[in-house]
Amino acid sequence: MKTNEKPVSEFVEKGGFKMDLSMKRDAVDSPFIFIPPAKEMVVFLRQHIGPETKPSVQVGDKVFYGQKIGDDLSGGPLVVPIHSPVNGRVVALTQRQHPESGKKEMALIIETHDDKQKPYYEPLDPDDATTEELQERVREAGVVGLGGASFPTHVKLSPEKPISHLLINAKESDPNIACDSRLMVEKPAGIITGIKLMTQMLEADEVIFATRTKEGEIPEFEKLLGENDIPIIRIRPSYSIGSEKLLIKEILDKEIPYGKYPPDIGAVVHNVSTAHAVKRAVIDGEPLVSRGLTMYSKKTGGKNLWVRMGTPVEHVLESVGVSPSEFERIVIGSTMMGPSIPNSSYPVLKATSGITAFTQKEPDPYRNPLPCIRCGYCNTVCPVDIYPQLIMEAEKAGDIDRLKKLHVEVCIDCGLCSYVCPSRIRFTPYLQRGKQKIRDT
Ligand code: SF4
Ligand code: SF4
Repeated sequence: MKTNEKPVSEFVEKGGFKMDLSMKRDAVDSPFIFIPPAKEMVVFLRQHIGPETKPSVQVGDKVFYGQKIGDDLSGGPLVVPIHSPVNGRVVALTQRQHPESGKKEMALIIETHDDKQKPYYEPLDPDDATTEELQERVREAGVVGLGGASFPTHVKLSPEKPISHLLINAKESDPNIACDSRLMVEKPAGIITGIKLMTQMLEADEVIFATRTKEGEIPEFEKLLGENDIPIIRIRPSYSIGSEKLLIKEILDKEIPYGKYPPDIGAVVHNVSTAHAVKRAVIDGEPLVSRGLTMYSKKTGGKNLWVRMGTPVEHVLESVGVSPSEFERIVIGSTMMGPSIPNSSYPVLKATSGITAFTQKEPDPYRNPLPCIRCGYCNTVCPVDIYPQLIMEAEKAGDIDRLKKLHVEVCIDCGLCSYVCPSRIRFTPYLQRGKQKIRDT
């Protein structure tokens, strides 16, 4: 079945500019290709937002597919365990530059012995399990938000306030990513089961499935949603509405006050692939050691791949028939928000929803920025109505009072300001440093 009989429509943003979706369009009908594990897997001990785990294995230990190899029960609620993606042996515990933070963090290097997979945990029967047992299974299986944020899922499934609305986000806004759409084609029943488990844990009054316009229709999946009384809301084809706060505003017409979170207004948002990971954790006893992602390059076109966490990007590229040396620059995650990695030895993480490889004929557009011409376009497109250009000036001047007045902290890191700037200024470093300066005061 095809996800799209018609081409994916363009995203239209504030200010009326249109976003190029050719990368997404290229991948949308590509079935998942399973990438075998590499000879050596690089498994970071932190693959979530939150403190690092501590290794529970030592160099020389044998490890098994799905075995917990890192955790820290004293580290607070945001710690999420890490599991071995293969049967093999730990050959090193070392510091490596983390693909997301850019800082040195601990990683286990595991020599792969075979690629066999078998569930590590006993399946749970949701009719017999308590809510606490289900929540604990989600944590124990290492599930995090797979939309890119990698926030611990068990925390979002254990709110301290009553939840009126569970929103399932299938908007898949990033212009280079189509793996969520593909999962809806290939694993519709698993996603529905995951949504039901989430609803059970949250005791949510209502579930809403938020997806794109008609062009993104997946009839068989939507039929299943209908049979399970889960309503679909089709949201405007706009990139920024994929962000949690803006999605809540769009669907529920509720603003989240400054300093508050979705549960404070009775809402929780989960990504559609995360729902599937919850089903695998509870029903199949599978920890989160592999995920779908979309790879794009002009040499390969768009492909949806199923990859184990810890697989070096170079191995992914070689597995789809290209050499890392053919590319000058590789971005992981969203092309709008994700980091460029310095070389292709960096591994896939739980948060890696995409890999985009650019050739030398596609140089980094932000490499040689020009001075600001004060066109105001960055201000016009900002979905949270702040002033990126003024924030950049305040950050350069170290003016913390002004950064506060300009509300840099409400920036959702969407990257639209950089995307539209005719002077090709990359705002991300200024925005991140500006937020950090406020946090440090
Ligand atoms: S990255 Fe931040 S400042 Fe820039 S457009 Fe998005 S929300 Fe606005
Ligand atoms: S879009 Fe670029 S050139 Fe225009 S005001 Fe913003 S920073 Fe300046």
